[in-house]
Amino acid sequence: MSKVLIIGAGGVGRVVVYKCAQHPDVFSEILLASRTKSKCDAIAADVKRDTGYQAISTAAVDAENVPELTALIREFQPAMVIHVALPYQDLTIMDACLEAGVHYLDTANYEPKDVAKFEYKWQWAYHDRFKDAGLLAVLGCGFDPGVTSVYTAYAVKHHFDEIHYLDIVDCNAGSHGKAFATNFNPEINIREITQPGKYYENGQWVEIPAHSVMKPLSYPGIGPKNSYLIYHEELESLVKNFPSLKRARFWMTFGDEYLTHLRVIQNIGMSRIDPVMYKGVEVIPLEFLKYVLPDPGELGENYTGETSIGCRIRGIKDGKEKTYYVWNNCSHQAAYEETGAQGVSYTTGVPAMIGAMMMLKGEWTGNGVFNVEQFNPDPFMAQRNVCGLPWHEQFNIDLEF
Ligand code: NDP
Repeated sequence: MSKVLIIGAGGVGRVVVYKCAQHPDVFSEILLASRTKSKCDAIAADVKRDTGYQAISTAAVDAENVPELTALIREFQPAMVIHVALPYQDLTIMDACLEAGVHYLDTANYEPKDVAKFEYKWQWAYHDRFKDAGLLAVLGCGFDPGVTSVYTAYAVKHHFDEIHYLDIVDCNAGSHGKAFATNFNPEINIREITQPGKYYENGQWVEIPAHSVMKPLSYPGIGPKNSYLIYHEELESLVKNFPSLKRARFWMTFGDEYLTHLRVIQNIGMSRIDPVMYKGVEVIPLEFLKYVLPDPGELGENYTGETSIGCRIRGIKDGKEKTYYVWNNCSHQAAYEETGAQGVSYTTGVPAMIGAMMMLKGEWTGNGVFNVEQFNPDPFMAQRNVCGLPWHEQFNIDLEF
């Protein structure tokens, strides 16, 4: 039984608190802290009402202020911090965890505010400090990265002697009824998908113009959807941890309407992350845009349809070529009925809770900074089936690649 500090009161934070509250045998007490305390209070009230779990308190914190955060951690004394605020805060939260001597878990790798670039190098550089302090930091424990990384580890452990080709396929076939909205933090989301595409092939990274490669892929229970080759952060750690990979790519579905809006946003300069002067005040267009777009945390009520995210893998078993597809479909409505959040927040928050459970139960151990595919995938995959994200698998099928 352990106390846990959850940082971030957005859609993902909401789901993490609900799911931790459903496992009081593991999470004995929760402190939910974020920049705006009223958002923490609203989530805490909902969780108390819906689950009966009462051991939740809330606090305001600036997660970019290391002394403030360290003091909060020292006062509450949790076993670990689950960080589901924004990637900008990864390093300051890791610093505070080191200062206060607690374990760390997050769902997205660090990004500097002034460059839209995600790489693990900044967080991997903390390995020796966590190791010397006898602490564990688990990186990227949402769905993608997170579950997709565990899927790959599971495939390697149980179904292949060597994996050669990995295609991660991420489909959101949901409909929220808005002309344009992002499914998680708009600023982070738009920074991610407007970058050039990139994939790994024969030991090298190949860069392509954004959204220039498209394939209609068929998703279970959904059907064909236009899927675009984009760069996604788990590719970096997966090719490092599974060096037999000859090629690793990531595909995400986008509708034509969505891409048109995105193009317009870029063309008119609203995706810029450099400051512009407006009436004597510095404004960053993309930061401002966040405040006029729908709040992803409020999309849930009318969201219908499903997400379908999985890994399609080709490799060798007992000298023969083999294919494997492992995936989960998640209903936006079912997620909303359970937690008040839509499916994208749900598919991120549930794995974050399971990852924390793995650490607190001693299933995932170690000193240093690790990506999730470096741990035993089996207990994590087993929990998925009982925690709301069941998975399915097929062998030796046409992977469409
Ligand atoms: P939201 O924008 O809805 O929530 C972010 C929360 O962080 C808000 O409550 C915000 O506070 C808080 N916050 C921001 N800055 C600070 C700060 N300096 N100090 C304290 N709190 C702060 O985002 P989501 O819930 O949609 O996403 C959360 C995280 O999950 C993101 O990092 C995102 O990248 C990641 N993610 C990962 C996925 C995966 O599969 N791995 C998929 C989807 C998301 P305030 O309310 O005051 O703005």
